Amino acid sequence: MHVSDILASKGAAVLTIAADATVAEAARLLASKRIGAVLIGAGAGAGGLAGILSERDIVRGLAERGEHVLQEPVSTLMTRNVVVCAPEHSLDQIMGMMTERRIRHLPVVDGAKLVGVISIGDAVKHRIAEIEREAQDLRAYITAA
Ligand code: AMP
Repeated sequence: MHVSDILASKGAAVLTIAADATVAEAARLLASKRIGAVLIGAGAGAGGLAGILSERDIVRGLAERGEHVLQEPVSTLMTRNVVVCAPEHSLDQIMGMMTERRIRHLPVVDGAKLVGVISIGDAVKHRIAEIEREAQDLRAYITAA
């Protein structure tokens, strides 16, 4: 199972927001789309990404700087050094990247093009499906023997 297989089943939709949008706008977007992170629009960097903002950044910003942070631009809270993966990466590889770096979202970059985002939820869902298929194959093998 590879990142390209996961994207084929979930689609290539990527939500981005401009760097000068406010944190409040980003929070509303995360809530309405029921997602945990948004990418910050084209700029310099991997796949034209300027940064990533997750719900965790918003919680930390509120705790450390108070509610006025909601009116500040997302660029004040986003992580600029975005870790990305490629369609060729295996499911095990991206789960390793997420675990090691303690991140739950990985934009997928093909060459210079942003082609999707994989969340830890997508990774776990496909890993469970993979384990179920392996168990089924083993059961079929045992009953056929
Ligand atoms: P998350 O676990 O994805 O909610 O994010 C936890 C922290 O890691 C936040 O500060 C995010 O901005 C940051 N983060 C999430 N995904 C990435 C990524 N792909 N590259 C760099 N930082 C990230």
